[in-house]
Order: sequence, then structure tokens, then C-alpha cells
Amino acid sequence: MQAEKELIAGAAASLVPSGTAIAISAGTTTYALAKRLTDIPGLTVLTNSVPVAEVLYKDGRPDQTVILSGGVRTPSDALVGPFAVAVIRSLHVDSVFMGSHGMDLRSGFTTPNILEAETNRALIEAGRRLVVLADSTKWGTIGISSVARLEEADTIVTDSGLDATARQQLSAAVRRLILVDVATSGVQTIEGEDGSAVGPGELGGNGVSKGSTASQLPSQPHRRYNALSDEWLLVSAERTSRPWLGRQETPPPQDLPAYDPSCYLCPGNVRANGERNPEYDSTFVFTNDFAALQPDTPLVTIEDGLLRAKSERGTCKVICFSPRHDLSLSRMNATQARTVVDLWATQTASLGEQFPWVQVFENRGAPMGASNPTRTVRSGRRHPAARGGEGGRDPVPPFRRDRSQAPARLCRTGGGRRQGPGKR
Ligand SMILES: [Zn+2]
Repeated sequence: MQAEKELIAGAAASLVPSGTAIAISAGTTTYALAKRLTDIPGLTVLTNSVPVAEVLYKDGRPDQTVILSGGVRTPSDALVGPFAVAVIRSLHVDSVFMGSHGMDLRSGFTTPNILEAETNRALIEAGRRLVVLADSTKWGTIGISSVARLEEADTIVTDSGLDATARQQLSAAVRRLILVDVATSGVQTIEGEDGSAVGPGELGGNGVSKGSTASQLPSQPHRRYNALSDEWLLVSAERTSRPWLGRQETPPPQDLPAYDPSCYLCPGNVRANGERNPEYDSTFVFTNDFAALQPDTPLVTIEDGLLRAKSERGTCKVICFSPRHDLSLSRMNATQARTVVDLWATQTASLGEQFPWVQVFENRGAPMGASNPTRTVRSGRRHPAARGGEGGRDPVPPFRRDRSQAPARLCRTGGGRRQGPGKR
């Protein structure tokens, strides 16, 4: 089983980002994990295992922090008892990496050592997500003392010796099942059976419903998280059972002509305000004839009881993506699409010099105010508070989305100044 343990430890080590705080329980597999964490920068490790603390202390980077729980030492070099529990309970970590003596559908994760079970439970409570490291021989083994239910684990890392039924049962219980293969050294990841635990659980996994519980939700009233706006929204699931299911729209015609003489936006045609479009052969930008924002709006503030208003300055531009009436972004080749994206970028840069907030968006279809199915609208807007200006409001939805996406963006790019959408 040593080869399995090493592979399991390797797969688990890949789940540890730098700069995080984790807990590691006592055990041979978790010791193998600790040996693989010595190079991870800025790691803080809380453990009740003397060997785990020792390997990180001796071989770990100088910027790592090791917290040994204290407590009474067992023959297996774990620290247990009230001292260990008291120290662990006073701390909070991101992920808890726990070995398990037994793993069973009904009994969950178990151990023969009652005091160690208590310490491990304290470790689990100190963390936001539980990762269990257990080779396939642990499946069906039951120790006298319960540590956690299977569903309490966010991730189980085990080996491909696990039979098909066990794989199915485990993947239904947890968000993620990771299987290492000794023959190939390959790693297979199985996400939770119906994917339902992915989402808010992704962020923490703490107390999140998993598996069958979440799969019942679509037919019941529930709240759902909108990650873009950082809001919880009520879902009235019963609505889909009502006889009135909403207005039916006929799909737009698919066989559009390359040129439409009655279109306001096609090359050479006259627009609603009487201006004639040039015979453009690539992209075409002009100021919206019916702009929602104007650069010369008089600055007025109204404070009249419940009525409070402030005028807003800005501009709105329209971009025609192509001279072809029938060519939408999704049907362009990469070179054509790149031309459009480059134009977004240059427009964003030039409008960004005049206005603190620039928003790029695409309008599709008549209900959205787009008179032509293949053209899109782009808008430069001024919102003083976006840069701490005159105290007006930010454009709430885009500002929220920008803020909600900021952490993910920092992860991908390694940092950078936040700017309005389209400026990245
Ligand atoms: Zn047209």
C-alpha cells in the first residue's frame, strides 16, 4: 500500500495553494503528504502529529509556520486529549487533510482510537473544507469511534483499487472523488454525482448540502447564489408547473441577406437622423443617434423630499461589427472577431481618458432595442463615484459584477489595478 499512499499524498499536495493555512491530522498517509509540502511558500500548518511537525520544521521553507497542537502523545505519535482539542478549537484553517482508519457508507470515517477521534473532530471543525486521504483498503473498514460522516468531506483522495459500487457511493456523498492509479500514476477526478454541490460549496464546503439533498432542489422553492452580483435570489420552482409559461418568441430568421436596403446600419444607408453611413468595409463606429448619455448635459441636482436626482454625463457609441448584414460575432472567423475585439479595446482606452466608467455590451434582438440583428451597441458612461468623484452612484449591476469577479481575476493574473469592464 506504500505506493498508493505516496500517490495519494501527491494528489492531495496539489490541492494546497501557497499562502494558505491548513491542518494535517496524524497518520502515515498524511505524513507522506507533509513531506510534499515543504516547498510551498507561506504555508501555515496546524497539526497534532509530531512527525508531521518535525518534517516541516526540518525541511520546510523558512516562510512556513508550523503549529503543533500540544497534548498527550499516543504510541502512533499523535497528540490527543483536552490540551490538543483546546488549542485546535482556538484556530481556523482553510482545509483539513485527514487520514482515516476506516471508511464506510453507513459509519463514515472511523478510527479505533477514541481520543484521536475527538482530536480529529476538532480539526474538522477548525477548517472550512475536509479532504480525506484513505487508500482503497480502508473502504468497508469500521473503527469503534466515529470521526465524520462521508458527506462532511469535501474531497476524498483514494486509489483506483476502489470497486465501481464504492466509487459511485463515494462520489454521490462528496463533492469530489480523486482516484490515483498505481499502474499508470494517473489521477482521475470525479465531481459530485449531479454536480449540485459545486457552486457555493466550491468556496467553502462548510455545511453545504451535497448529493441527493441538493438534487431535489429544482422542484422546491430555494435560494440560489448569483456569483456575478454577489446576491442570493429566490427561485420559485413551482412557477414551471403553472399553465402560463410566459410569452413565446419566434426565433429570428436565419437566412438574412448580406445587405438590407432598409437597414439603418448597413454601409451607405441613411440612418434615422438623416445621416448617411460611409461605405465601410470593416468595422464602423459612430455616436448613437439616440444616446442614453450626453456629454453636455447640464449638471443639476434635485433634492425634493423623496425625489432625489442628479444629472449624468457620458456618451454612447455604436459599433457595427462588419459591413455584412448577416454576419454576427458567433459566425465570424477568428481574424474578423479579433478586429472587433481590438476595436473594443481601443474605444475603451480612448473613452476611458474622458470617463471614469466604460461599459462594453452587446444588444441582440428587437426587444433589447437593437434594430438590426447583427449589430451591437457600445456605450461610454460617466459615473463620478466609480472613481470617488462627485458622490453619484456607481452603475450598480456592472460595478457589482466587477467587484465580484475581482478575486478570480487576481488569482489568474497575479494582481493588478481594478478598472472598469473592458479595460483589462
Ligand atoms: Zn444591415
